[in-house]
Amino acid sequence: MIIHLKNDVDKQIADTIASDLNAFLLYKDGKYVIVTSSHIKEIQENHQAYVDTFLNFDHDIQLSSRKYLQGTREIKIGDVIVGGCTNNTLLITGPCSVESREQIEQSAQLLKSLGLSTLRAGTFKSRTSPYSFQGMGSEGLKLLDEIRVKYSLKIITEVFDSSQLDEVADHADIIQISAKSMYNQASLKKCGKLNKAVLLKRSFGATLQELLQASEFILSAGNDQVMLCERGIRTFETKTRFTLDLCGVAWLKQNSNLPIVLDPSHAMGYAYGIPDLSRACMAMGVDGLMIESHPDPARAKSDVHQQLTHPAFIKLYGSLKAIADVIGRKIV
Ligand code: PEP
Ligand code: MN
Repeated sequence: MIIHLKNDVDKQIADTIASDLNAFLLYKDGKYVIVTSSHIKEIQENHQAYVDTFLNFDHDIQLSSRKYLQGTREIKIGDVIVGGCTNNTLLITGPCSVESREQIEQSAQLLKSLGLSTLRAGTFKSRTSPYSFQGMGSEGLKLLDEIRVKYSLKIITEVFDSSQLDEVADHADIIQISAKSMYNQASLKKCGKLNKAVLLKRSFGATLQELLQASEFILSAGNDQVMLCERGIRTFETKTRFTLDLCGVAWLKQNSNLPIVLDPSHAMGYAYGIPDLSRACMAMGVDGLMIESHPDPARAKSDVHQQLTHPAFIKLYGSLKAIADVIGRKIV
C-alpha cells in the first residue's frame, strides 16, 4: 500500500506510523508518503485521521507501477531530461570498457560529431571469468571524468558492488547497475540514498516481476531517478548471446512508470545484428538506447564481437534519426 499523509502531518507522526507498519517513509512535494508491503490492504483505525489518500497494489509492484503514476517518471541527467513530458530518446554509445585515454577520447569525439550527450564505458567490469579483463577501476574513472569535463559529456558507467558506489557517484552522471548485480540489494539500497540517475539492468535470469521489485529497493529508499534496461535474457537459444525481450518491454511500457532503455548490443552479442535490432528498438518508442561502439572493435579488451565501428555507428545513427522523426521522438 502507498499512503499519502495529509499536508499538516509532521515528521514525528509520520515516523510513528511508518514504524507501526514496518514501512518506508518518503517525503515528496511537501508531504509524507508511506510505502508498506502490498499485503497490507486497510488503514488501521488509529492512523485514519492522518491519511489523505491510499492505494492498494498486488505483488509489491508499487512505486514503479503505472497504477501509482500514470505517466513516465522524469529523469534529470544534468540538463538532459528523459521521460516525463518529453519525447526524448537518450542515445548512449561508447565502448564496453575504458581501455586507454586515446580510445575514450576517440569515443567522445564520435558523440560530439553527432551531437549526442551521453558516453558509456565500464571501468569496474562485472565479468563471467576471473581471467578476462576486469576493467581499469579507479584509473579508468579518472579518465572518464577528464573526458566528461573536456567534452561536456554525461557519463554512464557500471558498478557491481556497493563498495564502488560512492566513488562512481562522484564521477558519473548515471550509475549503471550491471545485469549480474540486479539482485545485489546492498547496491540497490545504497543507490536509493543517492541523488543520481540509476540505470538498472535486468539480470538475464530475472522475470519482469523481479526486475520491478529490484527497482522498488531503490525507489523505496528515496531515489526516484531510476531507469530500467532490457539487455537480453537467457532462453534455450544459443546462436545469439541472449534474447532481447521486446514483449517484456511492451509489458513494462504498459505497467511501469520507469523510463526504459534498450541495450541490443549485449542481447545480440554480434555486431552484424546490432543495426537491425537497434532500429526495431527505436521503433518501439523507448526512452533510451544503449549501443556499444569502439574505435577498433577487433582489439577491444571486452565484448570484442559486438561493438560497432565508428563508421557503422554513424551510418546507424542516420536511420535511427529517420525512425525517431517518423514516430515523433527526439534523439538526445
Ligand atoms: C556492459 O554494459 O558492458 C555490461 C557488462 O552489461 P551487462 O551488465 O548487461 O552484462
Ligand atoms: Mn559490454
